[in-house]
Amino acid sequence: MGTVAFSVSLYLCGESLFFNGLWPMTCRELVEFLAEYLSGTLPPDQHAAFDTHLESCPECVAYLKSYQETVKLGKEAFRRPDAAVPDAVPDELVRAILAARRK
Ligand SMILES: [Zn+2]
Repeated sequence: MGTVAFSVSLYLCGESLFFNGLWPMTCRELVEFLAEYLSGTLPPDQHAAFDTHLESCPECVAYLKSYQETVKLGKEAFRRPDAAVPDAVPDELVRAILAARRK
């Protein structure tokens, strides 16, 4: 499935979704509110509309998943778990932390 087919299906889906007496959130709106939805700052009625859209729109569920995956990968890249402990950290401190963890 190419990019064109995907965007056409998104458009059709957005046109056909109505639910619960709430305003029909289209796929385009869902994408616009995605960051707010994930950070929990969306007003309750918009949050509900968002959830309802996801229940009936596999395309947006897939988009949401890939978005979250991208955010996760970005955070992991910044965290650098393989980075060495800086030389400035004293050995005693490292040992104390390791000992505390074992408790
Ligand atoms: Zn959608």
